Amino acid sequence: MKKWGLVIDVAKCSDCNNCYMACKDEFVDNDWPPYAAAQPARGHRWMNILSKERGQYPKVEVAYLPQPCQHCQNAPCLAADQDGAVRRREDGIIIIDPDKAKGRKDLLKSCPYGAIFWNADKNLPQKCILCAHLLDEGWEKPRCVQVCPTGALQVEQLDDQEWAELKQAQGLQAHREQLGTDPRVLYKSLNLYTKGFIAGNVAFGDSDECAEGVEVTLRGDSGQELNKALTDNYGEFVLRGLEENGDSYQLEFVLPGRTKQTKTVQLKESLNLGTIFM
Ligand code: SF4
Ligand code: SF4
Repeated sequence: MKKWGLVIDVAKCSDCNNCYMACKDEFVDNDWPPYAAAQPARGHRWMNILSKERGQYPKVEVAYLPQPCQHCQNAPCLAADQDGAVRRREDGIIIIDPDKAKGRKDLLKSCPYGAIFWNADKNLPQKCILCAHLLDEGWEKPRCVQVCPTGALQVEQLDDQEWAELKQAQGLQAHREQLGTDPRVLYKSLNLYTKGFIAGNVAFGDSDECAEGVEVTLRGDSGQELNKALTDNYGEFVLRGLEENGDSYQLEFVLPGRTKQTKTVQLKESLNLGTIFM
């Protein structure tokens, strides 16, 4: 059977929070039995937009990661349940039952994504239900997907083979794939949130002019090439997709007819190297 899921493009999210507000509009003060009880006005972020700021002025970037329940196919919340409080529907949507889950505050700890929230008034754990009540009525999109102005959120209904093909074709990734939860929420451009960068600009020492077209190569400990970029007409470059784990790298700057410079950097966090003169 085809399974519902979301594809979220980190590059397109600008933190407008329309998705968050649409979720509130749909669920605050609205009971949708047997799918979900009403969401409280405060404290719950069923669509939670995480953010990560990197770099140093003036090369600063912020990436936003919209994170609802990941509708894991290997769901720790489901594994933590023994009495039917959590169920996976045939279409892949994970539901916390608004009646059977009463009192199950322990379920919050089971979710490694922090996607389950506690409703103290109702004595109930709650989370995103992928707007199953609407999809079952024939809606094509959940509320959050419908209102996203940049197209960062998309919904898909695919069988397992088609999900695997989409993942491969579009280079989609699960957030924190190492958890092994097999989410049905997959991300495009996830590296913008999870990985760092080295940025800078290159100028000619004799004229102070921006150096366009300089080949900037990042090399590892043993000299192997890891990444490459060309400076633009402002002499600027960005090398992306780097782990911020303290590793050391060699940077090489090459322009035909000019001397090559090398620089050693240690990457604990994303770096703006400032101006490098050739
Ligand atoms: S993200 Fe958390 S709440 Fe959602 S299915 Fe996975 S483990 Fe369960
Ligand atoms: S799919 Fe529905 S329940 Fe889930 S975050 Fe979006 S609006 Fe909220």
